Amino acid sequence: MRYQKNDQVCLKITDMGNDGEGIGRTKDGYTLFVKDTVIGDEIEAKVIKAKKNYGYGKLMKILQPSADRVEPLCPKAGPCGGCQLQALSYKKQLEYKQNRVRNHLERIGGFTEIPMEPIIGMEEPYHYRNKAQFPVGKNKEGRIITGFYAGRTHSIVENRKCYLGVPGNEEILNRVIHWMEEFHVEPYDEKTGSGLMRHILIRYGFASGEWMVCLVINGEKIPAKGQLIDALTDLPGMTSITANVNTRRDNVILGERILPLWGQTYITDQIGDVSYQISPLSFYQVNPLQTRKLYEKALSYAQLQGNETVWDLYCGIGTISLFLAQKAKKVYGVEIVPAAIEDARRNARLNGFDNAEFFVGKAEEILPQKYEEEGIYADVIVVDPPRKGCDQALLDTILKMQPERVVYVSCDSATLARDLKYLCESAYRLEKVCPVDQFGMTVHVETVVLMSKVKE
Ligand code: SAH
Repeated sequence: MRYQKNDQVCLKITDMGNDGEGIGRTKDGYTLFVKDTVIGDEIEAKVIKAKKNYGYGKLMKILQPSADRVEPLCPKAGPCGGCQLQALSYKKQLEYKQNRVRNHLERIGGFTEIPMEPIIGMEEPYHYRNKAQFPVGKNKEGRIITGFYAGRTHSIVENRKCYLGVPGNEEILNRVIHWMEEFHVEPYDEKTGSGLMRHILIRYGFASGEWMVCLVINGEKIPAKGQLIDALTDLPGMTSITANVNTRRDNVILGERILPLWGQTYITDQIGDVSYQISPLSFYQVNPLQTRKLYEKALSYAQLQGNETVWDLYCGIGTISLFLAQKAKKVYGVEIVPAAIEDARRNARLNGFDNAEFFVGKAEEILPQKYEEEGIYADVIVVDPPRKGCDQALLDTILKMQPERVVYVSCDSATLARDLKYLCESAYRLEKVCPVDQFGMTVHVETVVLMSKVKE
């Protein structure tokens, strides 16, 4: 049956969507998406938009709350756009993520037997992020505020105490905002393009204890610079204070130029036994504890004995490449962003790896080119693409090169399933699948997969 706007319906929530909205079906099979509900809730909802096969509803009443419903730790969890799953117990979040990966592999990948390992969850699903970018603005009364954007908007929900970030962020924000108030430093106004302070970027090295503060400014100069530095440098571990110049009118947070203000322009951190230098502009995994587990899984799937040649495609700053370099004869990394490759080369030197080599370019162009022109070889290929997954030209080259094993690290199980289908219809077999939760309280999930070449 098709419903109309304003109809009242009762339903049980059985799944959750990409924005954390609950999904359920009415008795007669009509699917409704309802915000502010979690798996297991029995609810009454009002239809606010009705399409042929599905619609959107507004929560009117919880008839029977889910046994997995919990009180969010953060009082701002509702309006803030950062977390979607805080009202669901962490145990249930993990189950939901594991099911999502399984569903995608079945529905999109067409797999029936899925060699799934249990999802690797976090010991502490809060306070795991080593990086936060806080927008700065003014509230209606004209007071300077900082926090996070409300979901899908640019209005700031005031919050200096984010439960996903490290507790030390709050004190840094208090000091920067206090300094702004005292020295009349104006926040940037998106509408008019006036004002100086756009974002406060904070990074913390979980292993090293080093702090980085980078103020993103709409200009070239910081007023009362000495007082700013005095306000921050007595914090234990403070290592790097910089400004980033961004005078553009668009939404991109960071500009290209870094102005050193105090200390180094980078901090150092370790994942496992590998050290990384991280500048304000570098990409670096935001949850280093889970990243370590993710990479250890990828490394164990690669089954390296010490004489292998490995290609790490979409290698970023070489995080996985250097993990592999500990065990392989030779590792080649490919990445599209030139600055990331500079970081990768520096990180290889810093750790004394002389068996890692990096190329700038598109994976789907570099790999075929090296294969056709130089006849390169791979025992193992590792891919860690962005959400849209691998380009087909790359998958075709993998099929031609026929490495013994392919390890796929994915941040989107839908495109993962599509790519696995393509490889496994041809020469590969799905051996192992392991979801890893890198982002508790959010809907995101990473997955590591091992495929091996089918022997003729
Ligand atoms: N493996 C890295 C980063 C993975 S994120 C790590 O763990 O740190 C995906 C990376 O793919 C990003 O660094 C992005 O810049 C890069 N990328 C996107 N499209 C690409 C392409 N076509 N070829 C190569 N790299 C690409």
